[in-house]
Amino acid sequence: MMLEYAATGFHGEPMPHEPMRAETDVLVIGSGAAGMYAAIEAAGSGCRVLLADRSLIGRGGATVMAQMTVAVALGSETPDHWSHHYEDTLASGRGLCNEPLAQLLCEEGPECIRAMDDWGVGWARKDGRITQAMAPGHDRPRCVYVDFLNTGPAVSKTLRTAVNKASGIRKAGDLCVVDLLCDGGEVIGAAALHLGSGAPVILSAKATILATGGLTRLYRRNSASANMGGDGYALALRAGASLVDMEFVQFFPIGHLAPRLVGMDPIMWDPFRYKLGGRLLNNHMEEFTQCYGVAEDGRYVITRDVGSYAILKEVEAGRGSPHGGVYLSFQHCTESALRESFGPVIDRLAANGIDLTKMPIEVAPIAHYHMGGIVADIRMQTEVPGLFAAGEAVGGANGANRLSGNAITEALVFGRRAGRSAAAYAKRFSVSPDHAVNARAALALITANAPMRNFNTAEMVQALQATMQDNVGALRSEEKLTAALETIARLTSELSDTPPGDGNRFDMSRIDWFDLRNMLLVARVVAEAALARTETRGAQQREDYPRLSPDWTFSQVVRVRDARVELSGAARTVATAAS
Ligand SMILES: Cc1cc2nc3c(=O)[nH]c(=O)nc-3n(C[C@H](O)[C@H](O)[C@H](O)COP(=O)(O)OP(=O)(O)OC[C@H]3O[C@@H](n4cnc5c(N)ncnc54)[C@H](O)[C@@H]3O)c2cc1C
Repeated sequence: MMLEYAATGFHGEPMPHEPMRAETDVLVIGSGAAGMYAAIEAAGSGCRVLLADRSLIGRGGATVMAQMTVAVALGSETPDHWSHHYEDTLASGRGLCNEPLAQLLCEEGPECIRAMDDWGVGWARKDGRITQAMAPGHDRPRCVYVDFLNTGPAVSKTLRTAVNKASGIRKAGDLCVVDLLCDGGEVIGAAALHLGSGAPVILSAKATILATGGLTRLYRRNSASANMGGDGYALALRAGASLVDMEFVQFFPIGHLAPRLVGMDPIMWDPFRYKLGGRLLNNHMEEFTQCYGVAEDGRYVITRDVGSYAILKEVEAGRGSPHGGVYLSFQHCTESALRESFGPVIDRLAANGIDLTKMPIEVAPIAHYHMGGIVADIRMQTEVPGLFAAGEAVGGANGANRLSGNAITEALVFGRRAGRSAAAYAKRFSVSPDHAVNARAALALITANAPMRNFNTAEMVQALQATMQDNVGALRSEEKLTAALETIARLTSELSDTPPGDGNRFDMSRIDWFDLRNMLLVARVVAEAALARTETRGAQQREDYPRLSPDWTFSQVVRVRDARVELSGAARTVATAAS
């Protein structure tokens, strides 16, 4: 590890409680698609870049897990234009998309997807043309992918290779950023905990990019990695930035439920449905989505918000499957059609005892993606000077409900833009800022030598996930949301102000403490925003306010002032002249 850290240019040995220091032009926090693309662009602009991640570089977070598709108006098989993709994105966002951000996503998507193609990602092709699949909410086939179920791993690998080839990028894994450092209202770097040694690390930067992904680890049933507890949202809030649309957590309707599936992505049924249709059935073995306004007839056309609602309502009415979901059947497909579409994946299913020609599987909604996030403009600049954001960490582009495939496009496009903007910002300064005073509070937390206290942080994480699942899930009400806020308040007071333990290497209760500090803040913000929005729109389904209200056609913005969470309405950001 000493060698690794010498290679990254850190000063000092990774000893517990002795701060290591590193200095850079652009600090990128998070190395999913957004962070890696940002690093490549910033380095390409001639800046020194430090790419930090609490996991291995390019292997934590959502990007590497994604197995499905990427939406982009390439028009490779069917004529298309970014404006059609944009119209579909706005319609899916149920009136709340930040239009300039949505436009950026759709307009620059094709360039990023072609760049990835040039770098060798291997988009699936037919007769030399990149294949584009039809997905719900899109008006034409628009989603590219890498066979078989290999989109995210291929995107990550391609970007990791580009990062390795770029000059000027230093990489630091196992670095969990616990706070941004500010001076006079400007972000000047970050304080981090080196997980392998327990040592504090001070990172000085002229510009900082948050590319920390989403928050679905807040939920008991989620498609997330362990690192998706919403760190970036909490870091941004504490540094004075705002969050938007925090109530809109996307539940993916057909997350795998039963039988047991080992070593495979719980949301892998989406690509199956793209290619093969599939039928959603209740326990009478009848299709039911037509009762909720969408007749599928074996096609895949239901959007995620309506799909989740329809499934949960069937279960509630006693028409669910044995494990509390509904059935998804591909029994109309022959073995050879399945093999042609999914090759070796069929063998992996067989190893799990699943033969799709003979049996349906059970599916149910699963927390999957966050539409809300950090307020940023089309340069990816937040309201706090020196702080940029990229990828799922940014809020607003997808409004109240994201179209399938838009998230990886968002990560690539926003990452590229953030890298360029942060590099331009960093070039305004000749020397890196000094952190001596600003890091004191963060260092005190990381190096605290506190007695072990009588609480179990792992149990607290579980209690938080349970209340978020049951009370701030896909179906909400005032009663449930109030109960969740009470649990969150109790857990917050139990957590107290100082992390437990002595902070040695891989001190799990200390790492949990830092995670819980962020998770509890972000959970509270999600629940408060959901409670305030007294209507049903997109991913926010209120049982006590079951209709969309035109009076609520605005986004809610969250800030922390004097340790108090403030929620306010914001005018919708609409597109001005095309940029
Ligand atoms: C299972 C799954 C399948 C999906 N499939 C698709 C799909 O097919 N198509 C699609 O468009 N979208 C899909 N999505 C959504 C999409 O993958 C994500 O929205 C997108 O990849 C996010 O990219 P990102 O770079 O913003 O964040 P991520 O890829 O999540 O990367 C964030 C990084 O930040 C790091 N990090 C977090 N906190 C800290 C901290 N405090 N300090 C240091 N590092 C930190 C994490 O370790 C991680 O490496 C899927 C998501 C999941 C979970």
